[in-house]
Amino acid sequence: MSWVSAFDIGTTSVKGILISKDGSIKGEKTYPLQTYYGVNGEIEQSPEEWRDGIIEICRYWMQNVKVEPEDIKAITFSGQMQDLIFASRLRVPRAILYSDTRAKSEAERINLEIHQLTEIANNPIDASSPFAKCLWMQSHQQEIYESCEAFLFSSKDYCIYELTNQLVTDPVTAATTGMMNLRKKEWQKEWLGKFEIPIAKMPDIRYPDQLAGHVTKRAAELTGFMEGTPVLSGSGDAGATTIGAGAVRENDSYLYLGTTGWAATVQKEFGESGDFMFTLSHVLPDCYISIAPLLNVGNVYLWAGKTFANGMDELEQLIAESPPGANGLFFLPYLNGERCPVNDPDAKGIFYGMTIHTKRADFARAIVEGLCYSYRQIMNLVMNDRRPASITVIGGGARSRVWCQITADVLGTEVHVPENSEYLPAVGAASNGFCYLGWVRNYEEFADRFIKADRTNVYSPLNQQIYHKGFETYEKLYPAFCLTHPPIS
Ligand code: ADP
Repeated sequence: MSWVSAFDIGTTSVKGILISKDGSIKGEKTYPLQTYYGVNGEIEQSPEEWRDGIIEICRYWMQNVKVEPEDIKAITFSGQMQDLIFASRLRVPRAILYSDTRAKSEAERINLEIHQLTEIANNPIDASSPFAKCLWMQSHQQEIYESCEAFLFSSKDYCIYELTNQLVTDPVTAATTGMMNLRKKEWQKEWLGKFEIPIAKMPDIRYPDQLAGHVTKRAAELTGFMEGTPVLSGSGDAGATTIGAGAVRENDSYLYLGTTGWAATVQKEFGESGDFMFTLSHVLPDCYISIAPLLNVGNVYLWAGKTFANGMDELEQLIAESPPGANGLFFLPYLNGERCPVNDPDAKGIFYGMTIHTKRADFARAIVEGLCYSYRQIMNLVMNDRRPASITVIGGGARSRVWCQITADVLGTEVHVPENSEYLPAVGAASNGFCYLGWVRNYEEFADRFIKADRTNVYSPLNQQIYHKGFETYEKLYPAFCLTHPPIS
């Protein structure tokens, strides 16, 4: 049997799967990762741990799953994006993760000194941008900046380097660096020159199903992969997740309900991104992903489970005890500030509408309804107020049936939840291997054959009407409270 091996190098773990030509999956294995937090806003990971994760998963495959190395026809990846990683054979410094906030003033400098940011890169620059992080390294850690062989921007780029010695990235990852011309899919040389970032240290941009290189003798000895096995460029996690959600045609849309989350839609063209929306290259060369992020999603659901119930199962039952509209109770979910549609790091959570009749179940329901209203706001942004007939919902939150039903009712669309939710980014990454090997004609065929809905939630027109009115009230709450009553610090 022939296999594609696919890895997702996330923030909390490395996940690996083997997927056969007929779409069957085996060898699912997870390797946990550590994150290092410093007192000055440092958030870092060790690239050597990413590599060790791959080695351990490969050994498990060879010894326990009994896969023959020659049966693995291609290796492909998905990985966290907006990192700054230093390729070096001498000593591997820690990678600076996307959430690291040290480069704030460098981001301000870029925004001040470059005037065509939105036309060319079409993405907001803040402290998470690798562009800003490069400038921070230039002035704060010159030795590493100058001695490294190259800069890489996704955990999977580093793993490709370990396996093949090649320095490549993909257009999805490159779009999030702030240094790529989004239409041309090229580094914006003029900007690099202006800030003295050496172009020679930038990786080659290759499409996800293009060859990055072949497994070297050294990597073969470490992993058990056969020397010479093709390794593909793969894609940043938003690209692989988009394929994993089956969003491969114009206007296909999905919601990601993770610890944090996003709403995304596929577009053939892009206008100017709003301040806190992003436009990424899609894995499909002629498409873009319009994406709007939320900071308050599964983390808020977890908080609700602890605060109003004894865990998720009880929360799920409690929500169902309150009617749609939660007896007039509303919740603004901004427990961690918010990025979109309100960009306010100081925004706070609010309950509004309590009476003497309000019950614990109403609090539980209002919380999930607040999360769904917040998704409706960002859906309206990415889809220009269009309402899709159906939408795919993925991520840990999709396990909650009641959350998915309220999502369907609030959005007034059918909600599909696919199988293998936990491994969807890896399944999405595997599609690159299928295209490269000619096992499918294109990504559309991959999605049609292998991304299957496990469950569907149909919306109730009656509940949709209740939520339509509720949404009008919800939209007034942030301007009424948070804008007029800034938090007491
Ligand atoms: P990430 O990879 O961003 O950490 P995941 O897709 O693993 O996110 O989702 C994590 C979130 O999933 C948690 O914050 C939690 O709220 C949610 N979650 C996990 N299990 C359940 C469940 N049974 N019901 C509802 N939500 C759940």
